[in-house]
Amino acid sequence: MIDGKAFAARVRAQVAEHVARLREEQGITPGLAVVLVGEDPASTVYVRNKGKQTVEVGMNSYEHKLPAETSEAGLLGLIAQLNADPAVHGILVQLPLPGHLNSDLVINAIDPAKDVDGFHISNVGLLGTGQKAMVPCTPLGCLMMLRDHLGSLSGLDAVVVGRSNIVGKPMAQLLLGDSCTVTIAHSRTQDLGEVCRRADILVAAVGRPEMIPGAWVKPGATVIDVGINRIERDGKTKLVGDVDFASASQVAGAITPVPGGVGPMTIACLLANTLTACCRANGLPEPE
Ligand code: NDP
Repeated sequence: MIDGKAFAARVRAQVAEHVARLREEQGITPGLAVVLVGEDPASTVYVRNKGKQTVEVGMNSYEHKLPAETSEAGLLGLIAQLNADPAVHGILVQLPLPGHLNSDLVINAIDPAKDVDGFHISNVGLLGTGQKAMVPCTPLGCLMMLRDHLGSLSGLDAVVVGRSNIVGKPMAQLLLGDSCTVTIAHSRTQDLGEVCRRADILVAAVGRPEMIPGAWVKPGATVIDVGINRIERDGKTKLVGDVDFASASQVAGAITPVPGGVGPMTIACLLANTLTACCRANGLPEPE
């Protein structure tokens, strides 16, 4: 079992230590601004957790909660203000946005140097060409767990199921950057089971509860389950991943649980990215 919760706690402790040094030696406190438009219940919980953990590592948290009917011009105005604010080193606009707002336009209005989610087109391009970028938090967390567990990933066969811009594609880029042989699978992939069985590293980012059975897992493979799916079982609401944990854990060499795997690492990486952005903005050495 790869314990994402414990690993995330270690990452947060390292970030907190670095933040304390920055304050003491440079008089600088990193600041993260989170913008929430509307009242989507899941997004509200995520934003609350992000704010709480930001403060816990000693950073400043600026929460901007806007009504669902906020206009595009209003939201872009706030982003311009945050771009210009020297106390704000990271800006995160919680997705999904209400339907009348163009997410691409809004994300690309963020200063790429403050784009701690790594979704700005400049950061996507930098990552794709192997240059220094802000890396999306969820795939970064997955990569950190894989490196921690396996050491070098060079030459391993990696299969990423899912090709979204926020998880699947950047995950594939990161694995390629670590010299894996990468296959990206999706809803049109033929014989998905056969494709998955080739994987030394199997990353599932689909959004379908327990879709990947143990029979699709190569014996000894490392399985990273990004999926977060809410299901009803035995009269209770339960969170499960995209992988059938019960059968896959019998075959895999290592596997992340849901909850307690990728989820906690995502916020830890957001804090790490904010620290990195702050160091870069001030011309200071970046954290390891
Ligand atoms: P998207 O819905 O954007 O993408 C899902 C991908 O899965 C698509 O590429 C889709 O293929 C593919 N897919 C759908 N059905 C199948 C199928 N039957 N066989 C193979 N591929 C399929 O989801 P996200 O990438 O945003 O998120 C994926 C999951 O990860 C969700 O459960 C989400 O909640 C979770 N998540 C967790 C995070 C965390 O912090 N742990 C952060 C972000 C997401 P196609 O492109 O062909 O439609």
